[in-house]
Amino acid sequence: MNITNKYITNNRPYEKRAKTTAIAVHYIGNPGTSANANRNYFQNNICDVSSNYIIGLNGEIICCIPPDEVSWCTCQANAYSPSIECCHPDSTGKLNSKTYNSLVELCAYLCKKYKLDETDLIRHYDVTGKVCPKGFVPKSKGGSDDNSNTAWKKFKADVKAKLGGTAAVSKPTAKEIYRVRKSWSNAQSQIGAYSSLDNAKKACKTGYTVYDKNGKAVYTKAADSSIKVGSKVRVKSGAKDYSGNILASFVYKSTYTVMEISGSRAVIGVNGTVTAAVHINNLIKV
Ligand SMILES: [Zn+2]
Repeated sequence: MNITNKYITNNRPYEKRAKTTAIAVHYIGNPGTSANANRNYFQNNICDVSSNYIIGLNGEIICCIPPDEVSWCTCQANAYSPSIECCHPDSTGKLNSKTYNSLVELCAYLCKKYKLDETDLIRHYDVTGKVCPKGFVPKSKGGSDDNSNTAWKKFKADVKAKLGGTAAVSKPTAKEIYRVRKSWSNAQSQIGAYSSLDNAKKACKTGYTVYDKNGKAVYTKAADSSIKVGSKVRVKSGAKDYSGNILASFVYKSTYTVMEISGSRAVIGVNGTVTAAVHINNLIKV
């Protein structure tokens, strides 16, 4: 595997990730374009979009942002995952064999580096529901994989095989802890920590959320709000996204539509395209 470092200086927050618990796979969405052209796009445009790696049609791998740094690619998952964009020959988004093989190798390499395994591979789709990478999203959701997700499962199996079949590196078996906080990043708001999810739910007050040990929200008692799916909203200036990541600056200047609400987590976007997931308390109705 050959990785060429061609670091970008634009659309790069120069921020180290505090943790790496997943690896996010994407597709470029622009058929036939090269890895280098897409790398240059990130460098030369003010777009608040970037990725750690791009894999080209010849299997070439360009590292645009070092893997330990945050890229702007996977919404709230930027906080815990390096991102990989894949080039593709046509609008199905399916990868050719060279790109695919490099993706398997790169994912195996990153799994080893961060002591992860194939179960920690995620799609952009898993985070926001976006049809990305299209070749690994089921047909029923707009992708080109079958509805059993055969291609995505095969891909994970191929990474597992590359890792040596022994599914890697044993993960730390830390006991689950459920923390009750206003938001994951606001550790000072914590009102309790429990090994039992039931007890954590009981302790959860209005406006608070129960998080698992990885910071994933598992239960929320949402604050009362007139904000509903379909509401037009703005994001409070300086507010972070639902996982505590800094948002791209343009987000504070725009009006969005609420696309989805679950508990205190609201997904906002424009014309059906997801922009971010934010805590509902960070939205202002317009
Ligand atoms: Zn994507």
